[in-house]
Amino acid sequence: MDIEKLKKIVGEDNLRDDVAELYIYGSDASVHQTDKAQVVVKPQNTKHVQEVMKYANENMIPVTARGIGSGTSGHAVPIDGGIVLDLKDMDKIIEISPENIICKVEPGVVNDELNRQLQPYGFFFAPTPASGKVCTIGGMIANNASGIRSVKYGATRDSLLGMKVVLANGDLVEFGSNTRVDAAGFQLARLMVGSEGMLGIVVEATLKLTPLPKLRCLAISKFNKLEEAGKTISDVMSSGATPSMLELMDDIAIQSVNKAFNLGLPDVEAVIIFEADGMIEATVDGEIERIIKICEKNNGFGFEMSYDAKRRAEIYEGRKKLFSALSRYREGYVCADLADDMAVPNSQMAATAHAIHEIAKKNNVIMTAYGHCGSGVIHTKILLNPSKKEQWDDARKAVEELYDFVDSVGGITSGEHGIALSKAPSWKKSRMDIIPITREVKKAFDPNNILNPHKLMDAPDDWVTATELRYRVKE
Ligand SMILES: Cc1cc2nc3c(=O)[nH]c(=O)nc-3n(C[C@H](O)[C@H](O)[C@H](O)COP(=O)(O)OP(=O)(O)OC[C@H]3O[C@@H](n4cnc5c(N)ncnc54)[C@H](O)[C@@H]3O)c2cc1C
Repeated sequence: MDIEKLKKIVGEDNLRDDVAELYIYGSDASVHQTDKAQVVVKPQNTKHVQEVMKYANENMIPVTARGIGSGTSGHAVPIDGGIVLDLKDMDKIIEISPENIICKVEPGVVNDELNRQLQPYGFFFAPTPASGKVCTIGGMIANNASGIRSVKYGATRDSLLGMKVVLANGDLVEFGSNTRVDAAGFQLARLMVGSEGMLGIVVEATLKLTPLPKLRCLAISKFNKLEEAGKTISDVMSSGATPSMLELMDDIAIQSVNKAFNLGLPDVEAVIIFEADGMIEATVDGEIERIIKICEKNNGFGFEMSYDAKRRAEIYEGRKKLFSALSRYREGYVCADLADDMAVPNSQMAATAHAIHEIAKKNNVIMTAYGHCGSGVIHTKILLNPSKKEQWDDARKAVEELYDFVDSVGGITSGEHGIALSKAPSWKKSRMDIIPITREVKKAFDPNNILNPHKLMDAPDDWVTATELRYRVKE
């Protein structure tokens, strides 16, 4: 690799190849780690991206695009070495146009920062991932991120109109449009959504703005049976209600936040947290009342609702802090992002929550069921002692069984975080039919296979041995 040439392109200050930096860029929020990264290049503009890609393509050097590295499946882990293309310095909000109800941004713009800038205009960018404080628009597009409000407002794909993309050979192209509808040919902007850094580098995105609601009302209901909470979620969604949030937390999730943060959440098998938003109080009230009735029908109790921002934040605090709390569930255990975001048909929510607990018990691991269940996403995390090899073997079995279950009820491997490495074996098993065409699409965009190779359809068949694990495992 010609490091001097790369320095000339991006400037000496925007390239790092020291051991410490390469170590950091060898992992993301997944269980994976590699020591193969050779150089980290931080382009400052589109021209830089074009020149780096041209050089990499001519010399067949792998390129792994990276936002902030919050992906949970190994997306930004550079398993083939080569260049890590860190896009977070390209973080300009190019234009906010309320009259066209769009904004144009560079890929390194962070979700929450964008929303801070949009607020004075009375709009927001709707996907709302829990990682919004750090995750970038480029990473959200590449993973089709969604979040707590996706039940009403959809995923990233639903708020994306167009984009500029640097192709593998360095050419700059424009996909999509500035308009809400677009029937002008193949939907190539859509194809980039969920492309996991494998088809091109997004250097600018045109995003649809959503009006900020004047009112938000948050409510909580307790349940003594997890299945009843799951059934409530299915019933709410099939009733025609339009909650702007519908979240589940099971007993392990509740115990974790209570233990870590002393929040005093109720000692029950499950809670659901739901929100309605809108411009008129009577409408929001009506929505909340309708959901409460469905909760009652399924033995929900202990309701509380509030329009007050402070109280809403308190009610939501446990869910918000859940991810960090799970790591403290048991001394010496970590919270591994495995089988973490499957999506199932609405009617299968209760059965899936139950299956998570059964499969965990059978395989001697601790798993929790929670998530943006209103939109079909059910999260789990596997809590394990990472130093014990047998725990990884148990986790492997649990993950496989869970995905077999999800597949059997018509669900999918990932509703939110993407496939990359850890979910690739299960995704491949369930989507054998589309692997050949997925490879052909990749070849059309990237004939030399330099963009994030060996992920998704070309990832290794065993996620435990696909890379080093981010933890020290004793044999
Ligand atoms: C605590 C926590 C909570 C989370 N909550 C949610 C949630 O609620 N909802 C959700 O959907 N996800 C969630 N995630 C997962 C993750 O934050 C999202 O997938 C996020 O969109 C990743 O953005 P990133 O900037 O970190 O991208 P990275 O992890 O850096 O990269 C992700 C992928 O995008 C590609 N990529 C990055 N930039 C570009 C670009 N400009 N052009 C082309 N490809 C690019 C990379 O190559 C990689 O394949 C969570 C993660 C954590 C750790």
